[in-house]
Amino acid sequence: MKKLISIVVPAYNEEAVLAAFHTRMSGVFDQLMDYRCEMIFVNDGSKDGTQAVIDGLANTDERVSTVTLSRNFGKEAAMTAGLDVAQGDAVAIFDADLQDPPELLLQFVAQWEAGYDVVYAKRCQRDGETWLKRATAHIFYRVIKKLSKVAIPPDTGDCRLMSRRVVQDLGRLREQHRFMKGLFAWVGYPSVAVSYRRDPRAAGHTKFNYWTLWNFALEGITSFTIAPLKLATYLGTIFAIGAFALGAWIILKTLIWGDPVRGYPSLIVTVLFLGGIQLFFVGILGEYLGRIFDETKGRPLYLLAQHRPSRIGTACAKQMTCHGESPLRSTT
Ligand code: UDP
Ligand code: MG
Repeated sequence: MKKLISIVVPAYNEEAVLAAFHTRMSGVFDQLMDYRCEMIFVNDGSKDGTQAVIDGLANTDERVSTVTLSRNFGKEAAMTAGLDVAQGDAVAIFDADLQDPPELLLQFVAQWEAGYDVVYAKRCQRDGETWLKRATAHIFYRVIKKLSKVAIPPDTGDCRLMSRRVVQDLGRLREQHRFMKGLFAWVGYPSVAVSYRRDPRAAGHTKFNYWTLWNFALEGITSFTIAPLKLATYLGTIFAIGAFALGAWIILKTLIWGDPVRGYPSLIVTVLFLGGIQLFFVGILGEYLGRIFDETKGRPLYLLAQHRPSRIGTACAKQMTCHGESPLRSTT
């Protein structure tokens, strides 16, 4: 039987662009005649007509599968849901808004057949994004590269193709705070990049503003490194040594010259400065503590309201793991 390639497409309020996506991706599928291909649309709790559009596509195209989450869980969870239900020998992720050109799939498949387990798309140019977004993205990738132990390739998004064993291993990582770029990197295996120009959004609006991007950056850093916690240790040590030296100097000065009481300004500056630093690190501790709190609850990553497999993918359908629980956890 021909190999199966599954494409996971997370969609949140994307009614305006899904038909265009389906048309373009179908064109690419037609060129991959030696494979069976399926598109898995994950409706991440959309409030517009997304469900109707993907239902319509599934009715007319046997290569379309739909997954509906019970509410909006966010792109990371939506991708995870898609990866969990995907049966493909290779599984690729594409944004619904055509920012990741579907034609990339041809190169992905060629590299996969050449023996790579992960083929990821690397942006060489970002059209339709402000300089501020590009600059902050640039800084973020550099910072995370310095801080994290696993090498997270810069300027790559979620768009990539993964072999079955990578998808399976990724499925074992069930953490609540899912910084997918980091999880992809953590899994490892032979990987290769394919350069592409990131197109502007075809229609609709971006779901990410600067506040969500900031939180995303925080997520990336706190889920992949404890460097900020260590910073407190070192800064604390430096301040303690400084304070000790200053104390010694003041004692000496008092013994030699005597000391009329002075120094209110320096005192208040020091107290406020140290107070600020302490609050800052209490905040960082809180970030980590909050994440531990979320993880200990062990809730499922998403809830499935409905899953309709594609007719092309059901031929080899296996028992599906429901509700985002780990396939491992449910069997042990
Ligand atoms: N998305 C999702 N759930 C969300 C937010 C976004 O499934 O809560 C999907 C969205 O439909 C799109 C992809 O994630 O397919 C990327 O979103 P978007 O284009 O808004 O992000 P950007 O490209 O601006 O970073
Ligand atoms: Mg986009």
